[in-house]
Amino acid sequence: MENQLDLSSSVIKEGYCIGCGVCSVVEDSPFIMELNENGEFVAKAVLNIKESPEITGLCPFSNQSPNEDEIANELFEGRKDSNIGFFQSLYAGHVSKGDYRSKGSSGGTVTWLLGKLLSENEIDAVIHVKDGKSGLYEYGISTTLEEIQDNSKSKYYPVTFSNVLREIDFQKRYAVVGVPCFITSLRLLAKSDLRFKKALKFHISLVCGHFKSEMFTKYIASAMNLDLEEVQNFDYRVKIPNKPANKYGMRATSGKGKETFMQNESIYGLNWGYGLFKYKACDFCDDVMGETADITIGDAWLPKYIEDHRGTNILVIRNSFLRDLIERNIGTELVYDELTPQDIYNSQSGGFRHRHNGLSFRLYIYKLFGKWTPKKRVQASLNNTSFRQKMIILIRLRLRGLSRQHSNSFSRLKRRSKPYVFVYFIFHKLGLRALINVTKRILRK
Ligand SMILES: Cc1cc2nc3c(=O)[nH]c(=O)nc-3n(C[C@H](O)[C@H](O)[C@H](O)COP(=O)(O)OP(=O)(O)OC[C@H]3O[C@@H](n4cnc5c(N)ncnc54)[C@H](O)[C@@H]3O)c2cc1C
Repeated sequence: MENQLDLSSSVIKEGYCIGCGVCSVVEDSPFIMELNENGEFVAKAVLNIKESPEITGLCPFSNQSPNEDEIANELFEGRKDSNIGFFQSLYAGHVSKGDYRSKGSSGGTVTWLLGKLLSENEIDAVIHVKDGKSGLYEYGISTTLEEIQDNSKSKYYPVTFSNVLREIDFQKRYAVVGVPCFITSLRLLAKSDLRFKKALKFHISLVCGHFKSEMFTKYIASAMNLDLEEVQNFDYRVKIPNKPANKYGMRATSGKGKETFMQNESIYGLNWGYGLFKYKACDFCDDVMGETADITIGDAWLPKYIEDHRGTNILVIRNSFLRDLIERNIGTELVYDELTPQDIYNSQSGGFRHRHNGLSFRLYIYKLFGKWTPKKRVQASLNNTSFRQKMIILIRLRLRGLSRQHSNSFSRLKRRSKPYVFVYFIFHKLGLRALINVTKRILRK
């Protein structure tokens, strides 16, 4: 009977809602989206009406919806790789024209591409994450190049489609930017409502490590001795000259334009591997590369590019129109090198290990304890991870749990998480032998 469960008694009850909000925008939906006490957008049933099977099938974490392979098989053709999905071309590079790169999170390609689609009249508007009216950031619509450029950069902040999808003018053509599961939810919506299929012309995915709750930003603000309420703008990706691209900083603008800057490395707990303030759903997602998107763009975490603090993108192009548009501009507005699927894998190897091999182990543990989990392309198994990886995964689960449990006291969170962070460091950086040596040394004293 497990596969027959509706969203309320599976995804929502078990905490796997990512907050995309697609289930809330369809007619006769019992759901609204709300920011819960953990600072995560989640669907909440408010009407006493039964959820239809169509609504259940819109959720990327439901067991009633097609998986990313099934969706992509209907959309794309050509070469396919088991890690990155379909692809026509693979690139690493940056935008050389204007200030797209300096104002972007990495190479500035997302904003350049959106601007290009608008200026060449391929779209009328862009749906992406902008300055918020109630929260710090939210999904909104940009119709001019200036607006698109003003809203560049990654926001590690909870967002939902629930309002912006209601603002869509079905006579217009849009490009939409989202993390992989959000793009998948739009593909599912488009299958059930052809108006969205027609209006949402280009789907641009960001590579995604994981989504953060609002507590993440609150936590950084507190490290800066600020209250989140006084923060007006947050730059999560400040590039630091002479530092590698992955050693960036964060800048909060508060009060009368007062700016507070901190380097990531100097804020306890900001290592992405720890997964503090991560949505649970992200630990049960196997789509690192946005496999249902027309194009996926991320950071080139590769030795050749990482030392350049100005930032470099990786691109997986699945749509031939976008491929031609991009290739027409290489050498004039874009500086790109061709990559192989292995290069793309290497640039996100940590993400793949956590979300493919690691997921296999997480599914095994959850099933062992009789817990409901979303059906994934990865199978539950004890055999896809080494002992060291298993330890790392268990510690990550604990750290995610602690960051939810102690989100009202960051000092307690720090105290409680430190022993786990220590053991994580040993396993992650050094391995089991080092742990034994450290233990021996401690015992000798
Ligand atoms: C939550 C999150 C996790 C990520 N994890 C990884 C990762 O593990 N590995 C990796 O290589 N890259 C990751 N990225 C992508 C990376 O941070 C850059 O966004 C990407 O390299 C594009 O850079 P750019 O300079 O081309 O984009 P820019 O030109 O700076 O444009 C960024 C665009 O993304 C939109 N945007 C910002 N935040 C969000 C959001 N939360 N949801 C949807 N749209 C948004 C903006 O509105 C803007 O249009 C992540 C991004 C996010 C938001």
